[in-house]
Amino acid sequence: MTLKKCIWCLKSYPEITFNKRAHTIPKSLGGQNYNKNVCDNCNEYFGNRNSHNGKYSIEEALKETFIITRKRLLSSKQVIKRKVGRFKSKFFEVKVKNGKYSLTIKSSFRFEKGFQNELARAFKRGLYKVYLEELNRQKGMGQEEKYNIIRDFARYDIGDLPVFYFDRKIGAFIMFDRESETPFLFFDRMKYLIKSEKFDEIEFLGHVFGFPVTQFNQKDLEIYFKETKKLKTEFFRGFVKIEKLTDIDLTLSLMND
Ligand SMILES: [Zn+2]
Repeated sequence: MTLKKCIWCLKSYPEITFNKRAHTIPKSLGGQNYNKNVCDNCNEYFGNRNSHNGKYSIEEALKETFIITRKRLLSSKQVIKRKVGRFKSKFFEVKVKNGKYSLTIKSSFRFEKGFQNELARAFKRGLYKVYLEELNRQKGMGQEEKYNIIRDFARYDIGDLPVFYFDRKIGAFIMFDRESETPFLFFDRMKYLIKSEKFDEIEFLGHVFGFPVTQFNQKDLEIYFKETKKLKTEFFRGFVKIEKLTDIDLTLSLMND
């Protein structure tokens, strides 16, 4: 029998424990799945403010970002009053009244570069956290050594990895009915998502992200750009490398009528 090993710190029981439920997608965003291969220490790490900058945790950065999108999506439907996860935002006030959606940005959210870069970094680490945990949960992968760059960045705050955000063309938007209630991370839902040895792409709450999953060089990056552009011409205008949180179309403005 193989020992149960944590996908983040790669340590095994009994050196570490697995007593708490580690939600892959935060519960407050409606996430319902958890990963059994995340130890208590690592689980705690992602929810702890001191793991990032003392102001907000990696999970909070993720929630802050997607809460807007999720509410936007929920407001566009005649949704059910049942509990779909709650989260009070630090930066935004999102109100949904009679199917109308309104967003107020609080003064704690700033547009200056330092603030935006820091938040974007926490968001990227959070995205990688969900990625590796869902890859492991859905496909049984993630413990391989090739993913060490993800562990370094997301779990140990070492280095930096580029995350690319794809800008949709209007109308190119499909979601399953229950998806805004219970968000799901898709690895290969649409043909426009690239799967390669060094880069992967995911779709979450209507947003498409691409990023490296292992060591890569400039040449690999160029090949990836070429391939991803080709595959996406029909549905996407282009992509940006996320440097600021505002690089992401959080409110899904293309849905505006
Ligand atoms: Zn661990």
